[in-house]
Amino acid sequence: MQGSLFVLEEPTQGLPERQGQAAVRSIRARQILTRANGSLEGYDYSLNPYSGCGFGCAYCFASFFQDSQDRFESWGSWVEAKENAVELLRAKKDLLGKKIFMSSATDPYQPIEAKCGITRGLLETMVEPGRQPRLVVQTRGPLVARDIDLLKRLKYVRVNMSITTDSDEVRKQFEPGCASIERRLEALRQVKAAGIPTTICILPMLPLEDPERFAKTIRDSGFDFAAAGWFHHSDRAFAASTRDTAWKVAERLGWTRTEYQRTLTALQRYLPSLNCGRGFAPA
Ligand code: SF4
Repeated sequence: MQGSLFVLEEPTQGLPERQGQAAVRSIRARQILTRANGSLEGYDYSLNPYSGCGFGCAYCFASFFQDSQDRFESWGSWVEAKENAVELLRAKKDLLGKKIFMSSATDPYQPIEAKCGITRGLLETMVEPGRQPRLVVQTRGPLVARDIDLLKRLKYVRVNMSITTDSDEVRKQFEPGCASIERRLEALRQVKAAGIPTTICILPMLPLEDPERFAKTIRDSGFDFAAAGWFHHSDRAFAASTRDTAWKVAERLGWTRTEYQRTLTALQRYLPSLNCGRGFAPA
């Protein structure tokens, strides 16, 4: 199967807009766990079941980690599925208690996961006795609710769901491949109702229609932690940063750092624990 190319010719039923239209290729990876560094302080490893991401968010700085200009520029239109991911994780003998962040450079619940189930296979390996890591799942994908049965079997786990705006119109401009806000909220409610700790990540925060209503909606979801932030930005050459596409959309919508600060203050009136700093700590 290595190198085989298959394109999902039609969007998966029930998925909005562009979801499910990335070209997907199956590859054999050399490793599945990467030593954590930089912003993943406190973690042992990051775990990326895929390279590339079918969600294709305009602001995604993971695109800067690509080794060619072509892969950078076509970010969102290609995905590599690591067909031997489970095999590699099974070969890791000292998984117990390791602090793992899944994922830092892709989304473990992007559309192709519904078909190939690599993330689910990894969770099946993690729940085995004597192998349980401390896992944080970072996603924009409502498909995470499919795996509640496995997530519940992990002793230390948290699901971080990114919900960046309350406007589906804004969402379509920055995150054309992602599920609606309501579907993400509903998935998060299901995860929380199953007794699994959650974080809502308003990251990067995008323009909001009604900060007060959004804050109350988030509050009612019963989250454990909430985090918010401005676009990731670096002045250093070749460093990961927000893509120009996103800056252009932000400019068109009048979304400035000042507006972000004002909105953050409005949210904090109803969410005083916003940015308590624990939303990204290991589970
Ligand atoms: S879901 Fe995450 S990894 Fe995928 S494109 Fe969006 S920001 Fe990047």
